[in-house]
This record gives sequence, C-alpha cells and structure tokens, in this order.
Amino acid sequence: RVKSCLRGNLLTFLTVIGVFGGVVLGVILRNTGDGPWTQREVMYVSYVGDIFLQMLKSLILPLIVASIITAIGGLDLTLSGKIGARAIVYYLCTTISAVILGMILVSVIHPGEGDASTIHASGNSRNVTTVDTLLDLIRNMFPPNLVQACIAQVTTWNMIYFLLAAKNLTMLDWQISYKYVSATNILGLVVFATVLGITLAKMADKGKPLLTFFETLGAAMLIITYWVIWISPIGIFFLVAAKVVEMESFEVIVGQLGMYFTTVLLGLFIHGFVVIPLYYSICTRKLPFRFILNMSQALFTAFGTGSSNATLPISMSCLEDKNQIDSRVVRFVMPIGATINMDGTALYEAVAAIFISQVRGMTLSIGQLLAISVTATAASIGAAGIPQAGLVTMVMVLDTVGLPPEDVTLIITVDWLLDRFRTMINVLGDSIGAGIVDHLSKPELLKLGQPNSDADKVD
Ligand code: ASP
Repeated sequence: RVKSCLRGNLLTFLTVIGVFGGVVLGVILRNTGDGPWTQREVMYVSYVGDIFLQMLKSLILPLIVASIITAIGGLDLTLSGKIGARAIVYYLCTTISAVILGMILVSVIHPGEGDASTIHASGNSRNVTTVDTLLDLIRNMFPPNLVQACIAQVTTWNMIYFLLAAKNLTMLDWQISYKYVSATNILGLVVFATVLGITLAKMADKGKPLLTFFETLGAAMLIITYWVIWISPIGIFFLVAAKVVEMESFEVIVGQLGMYFTTVLLGLFIHGFVVIPLYYSICTRKLPFRFILNMSQALFTAFGTGSSNATLPISMSCLEDKNQIDSRVVRFVMPIGATINMDGTALYEAVAAIFISQVRGMTLSIGQLLAISVTATAASIGAAGIPQAGLVTMVMVLDTVGLPPEDVTLIITVDWLLDRFRTMINVLGDSIGAGIVDHLSKPELLKLGQPNSDADKVD
C-alpha cells in the first residue's frame, strides 16, 4: 500500500511538472527562431504528445464498451437501475446548476459590454437549426452500423452547414470541424453497450460467456492503462509545449474577450471547487479535499489533452485505486458520465451564447434565457468528449436566440485554452458523481459481495 501510494503521488507530481514544464518550453520555443512557427514545426514539437494521445485513445473504445457491458451485466437489474437513476439525477442537477451559475455570472459581469470593433466574426451565414441539431443528437444514439460508429459520428446536416460556414476560417478551424465529424460516435456505442449489458443480465447463465469475454477485455484495458499512465508526464509536457508554440498571441486575451475568458474561468472555478464539492459533502457527509486531490492526475491529464474521453482510462484508475470507489460503479457510471455529463461545457455554452448576444447588442427576454439554458444543457450532452467539441455544438445554442453560426468565431481565439479548463471540470464532475453514487449504493453493493476485480491489479 505504501509503495503504491508513493508511486501514485510521484506520478501526479511528474504530471504537474509536465504541464508547467510544457508551458515554459513552449514560451522559450516561441521566442526562438524568426517569426511564427509553421504547422509542420508545431507538429514536430507535439509528436511525442500525439503518440501518447493515440495510445490513450486506442484504449477508450474497448474500455468504454467492455466496462458498461460488464458493470450492467454483472449486477442485478434492479440495482443497476438504481445506480443508473442516481447517476442521471446527479448529472441533471449539476449540469443545471452549472448553466444557472454561468448565466448569473455573465449577466452580472456583462463581459460583452464595450467597443465591439475589437472582435470580429468571419464566415457565411448558413441555415443551422436547433431542431436539426437535437434530431442529430438522437440519431447519433442509435447508430445503424456499429463498425461505422467506431469511426465517425452520424454525419449530420448541421455539421455540413458548419463546415460550409467555416469557409473563410483558418486551417485550425477546419481541423476542429473535421475532427468533430470524424470522431467516434461514443454516445451511440454507450447506448448500445447499455442495452447489451441489460440483455446479458436478463439472460443470466446463458449470457455468461459473453460477459466473461467483456470482463476480461475491460480488465486488460485497465492493465494497459497502468502502463500508459507512466508516459503521461512526458506526453502532456510535449502537448502543452506545442499548444503554447502554436497559439496566436499572448495579447489577444484583453478587452471584451478577456472579460469573457475571466467570466468562464470564474464560473468553472466556483462550480468545480465550491458547487460540486458541496454536492459531495451533502450526499456523503465527508470532506471533498482528499477525494479531489486523489483525482489530480486525471485533472492534469484533462488539461493536457483537452479531452474527457482520452482522460477516461486515467480517471477510472484514479477512482478505483486512489479513492477506492467500487469498480462496478466506476465502470458503469464513468464511461456514461464522460459522454453525457459535461458541467464545464454546459456552463461555457450558456456564458458564450449570452456573451455573443451582449456583443451584438441584443437584450434577451426571459423566454430566450430559458431557451439558452435548455439548449446549453442539450449541447453539453451532445458534445463529444474531444477537444473543442463544445464550440461545434454551440451553433445550436446560438440558433435559439437567432444568432448566426459563424458568430462562434468571435470567441474562437481563446477557445482552445478555455476548452482545457472546462475539460478539467467535466472530468471532476464525473468523478465526484461516481463518488456520490458509490456512497449511496454502498449498502446494496455490500449485500452483493465484493467485486471480482483482483484480476485487474498488476504490479
Ligand atoms: N473538450 C471537452 C471535453 O472533452 C468538450 C468541450 O467542451 O469541448 O470534455
């Protein structure tokens, strides 16, 4: 135990050094050589980081599918229903709290006030509607072809419109849109895995062989995660350094955009370190500090990668190993949480949409504010756990108040950095949710006996 405690803390320490060291290296590199760095040079700097990211990503798909199937298939249906319901109630409560907090802050701080000539939107207006986006979201839940779902989201009309609207944008903006369309349809796979898990539970003994297969697959993925985790400080170091080299300029975060940035950051901080810890303390009657500290490796990985999906293997291992959360709960709720529960994204969507209306000089009615809160929640559910996905799903929030999709470009320069902070809060929200559900489900889980997780542990 002492050995594993030291080992865990050493890794966290190295990961923190990775983040800060990456910033320092990035700043040094920016100031060397003549002129801005080319995309190719940035690619060389981020190469090692990209390999690390690819290693993590390769684990996600089998890990998510196997974990959900095993967790649901291995529990009795009444208990998995209860665990699922507790998680969903928590997700809804915290996401709505985040949206309301964001709306209050942006209304009080009013970052959109002032000289609107300092920021510009680019691109052409296209016909993107909230209804289409919601329909796409549901369409994605039921992939017609599972193999295809591993490769791409259902390519939606809205995505095509978004790409067309991006006509005048930079290579980087294109990359964001393209990566979104070609991201794995995790939501569809989560739905499918849940249904298969329920079916296997119903089949009892007949379902055992398949269940054992997925159990072994999930356990193997976690073992590989333990190995990959050791590379994370180096990977994060290069990812952060490359991002610092690549970013446009330090001076961009001033004026209205600076105020917007501060508003989102303040909201994320209050939500992550006051609101959800309060939920934790109220539900578990425990102080949240140790729990949060134990998650720090996952939180820094979220910052380094900007992706809650890529961080998932690490968050799961922090929860199971450091916070001693029941593996059945972790494997059930974390993959679902990483896909649909994004408090940071929800808060950001609400703040950004209202900020843009402020810049445009619009006064929003109560009805419009309500529409923003509903669509911001839906947009956070629909956003994939990949870098800057929230920016893409925001077109639907903008549409509810009649703003054109290309207005997302008003905030695009600072989005990559905000994305990293909101990803940290997304991961923290999922983890605290697992802690709460574990606490509430303890009596039932104890009755069921210990999970069969010793097989997963390796030295
Ligand atoms: N990058 C975020 C995540 O992976 C999603 C977003 O808000 O863009 O959780």
